[in-house]
Amino acid sequence: MTQKADKLLYNAYVLCMDEEFTQYERGAVAVTGDQIAAVGPAEELQKDFSADELIDCQGMVLMPGLVNAHTHVPMNLLRGLGDDLRLDVWLLGYIMPVEREYVNPEFVQLGTSLACAELIRSGVTSFADMYYFEDQVAEATAEAGLRAVCCQTILKFPSPDADSYEESLASSEAMIKKWKDHPLITPAVAPHSPYTTTVDILKSATDLALKYDVPLHIHIAETAQEVEDSLELHNMTVVPYVEQYDIFKAKVIAAHCVHIDDREMRTLARYGVGVAHNPTSNLKLSSGIAPVSNMLEHGIQVGIGTDGVSSNNDLDMFEELRLAALLAKGSTGDPTVVPARTAIAMATSMGARAIHLADQVGCLVAGKKADLILVNINTLHNSPHFRNDPDSIYAQLVYAAKSTDVSDVMVNGKWLMRSRELLTVDTDKLLTRAQALAEKIDRFLIERFQSVYTKLIAIGGAEEQESYEVQVKAKVQDPQSVIDRILDCELEIIYYRHYHEYDTYFRFEKPEEGWLRYREDEFIDRSGEVENIRYRLTLIGPQRERHFPQDVLLSRSRFIAPAPHSLRFYREYFKPVAETFIEKDRKRWKVCFRDIEFFINVDRLDEPALGTFLEVKSRTWSLEDAEKKAQVAKDLLQLLGSSPAETETQDYVQIVESHPEQ
Ligand SMILES: [Zn+2]
Repeated sequence: MTQKADKLLYNAYVLCMDEEFTQYERGAVAVTGDQIAAVGPAEELQKDFSADELIDCQGMVLMPGLVNAHTHVPMNLLRGLGDDLRLDVWLLGYIMPVEREYVNPEFVQLGTSLACAELIRSGVTSFADMYYFEDQVAEATAEAGLRAVCCQTILKFPSPDADSYEESLASSEAMIKKWKDHPLITPAVAPHSPYTTTVDILKSATDLALKYDVPLHIHIAETAQEVEDSLELHNMTVVPYVEQYDIFKAKVIAAHCVHIDDREMRTLARYGVGVAHNPTSNLKLSSGIAPVSNMLEHGIQVGIGTDGVSSNNDLDMFEELRLAALLAKGSTGDPTVVPARTAIAMATSMGARAIHLADQVGCLVAGKKADLILVNINTLHNSPHFRNDPDSIYAQLVYAAKSTDVSDVMVNGKWLMRSRELLTVDTDKLLTRAQALAEKIDRFLIERFQSVYTKLIAIGGAEEQESYEVQVKAKVQDPQSVIDRILDCELEIIYYRHYHEYDTYFRFEKPEEGWLRYREDEFIDRSGEVENIRYRLTLIGPQRERHFPQDVLLSRSRFIAPAPHSLRFYREYFKPVAETFIEKDRKRWKVCFRDIEFFINVDRLDEPALGTFLEVKSRTWSLEDAEKKAQVAKDLLQLLGSSPAETETQDYVQIVESHPEQ
């Protein structure tokens, strides 16, 4: 007696991707409703089943749809925004300022719809996402008909969709409740990473994931720096650090895991943590190469992800699974690791286990959801082929096939693409909107990047503080006698400090931009030891604004702020045309002279070695005041036994201007 199915796909090369890696060179799959009713030899199924829709697959490969185990789909709208940059410069200099300005529910919907179109066209049927406004990601994904684990991001600082982490936590819970029983969407929670969250966030996110039995998606050990920082801050590497807060009791999807050791792998394996390997993103951001074959040996479920388009720059899973196979070989010197069949498993069955959807998808077995793709392997670049080795079909898919060979895609028993024509997403209108937005973002960035000053503002933490500094200088032969004088001449001394200062001056193409000074201030205590270090950034404007005495130096600083990033970060972000380095030992007195506060500095220049300078300085907020103070400053210098010399003051400027670092 024949059974009734909705669809019967026959004359296909069926790869089941089940435990036994069953394959049928002339196979068929029967689909009823959203499920696979049967898989087997075409001859048998054609006898056993009658169907409303009969699909002759013409020898194409019929396999489970691919699983993209880690991505940020709305970032499709930021493709190509800041390439060839280091992670921190890319993220803090480009992505985050733009996200702060532009990411809203509409942005997320548009980006997700376009990403879904791109994913369908490369044969992806499920993905694990992490972004803001994840409710809209779920909405657009369900509309496109794709399956996804949608994870709401939680950060310790304000994000585009929340002012506080409590807010993110609440919206995560609301989203989980809303989508919990949806046939395509698995809602979940995503504490972004250990270093962008707090212990509180990690614990509450874990509680939430356990309460609703949903996955927890997190970035783990993406860079060597992250591990170093973790060792410094917590005295342990990243995996044991998060383990102590019980996060692995939840169904964890750990993205990256580039820098983990054997002990950490054993931990991940023991808890059944799924790892998402992102080869392109790790290479592009130079994060390193994840120890994939080692993880597989430990029995970890390793899936493959594209990461967001802004660090990839596409969502092509065929590229990704090929790279996963090749990188494992190249990095271990062993061409037998991650063979093609394993790579395909990582992108299907194992990927489904990694994102905790294996009860529904990942293999073609009766009872699983009907998520499948047809791949045309009869193209020029796929030909000829050999079949003496049953694994050669996997090799063909991994090393020769391309995402454009994907011809048809079905999710949950419903066609999303037929003969490369998308059925659920109309990309034309979406692309017009995406390009219009890209042009807006272009204008925003051009404006932000038009000057050193606006670039400073763009990376945040900036406070405009326009001020003037008048200074007079004199070279001194005998520093000790000057110091004795400072102490003897009955000045009111407010305090004394001793520093060692390392200044790097960035110069820019347009002189009117001034200089940007990165200063490392070492406070030296009474015993001569470094007590603490302070990093400051000062934007110093061009020298002269109006007529001013030649022996007085007037500098205008538009911006003073703590410098939380490294010198390397600022160098790569600001791209100066030249740099000057000055190292000096500074003894500084804050004094009051004729009711005006001055700094008296005795500076020994060590690099370049130019001897010792005495300088008297005062900061002020108006030019009128500066002129008044200039005269008093000269008097104070004279009181200390020196007279300001125009040449010396100007020489000092010359040092900064014309001593490019070797
Ligand atoms: Zn990511």
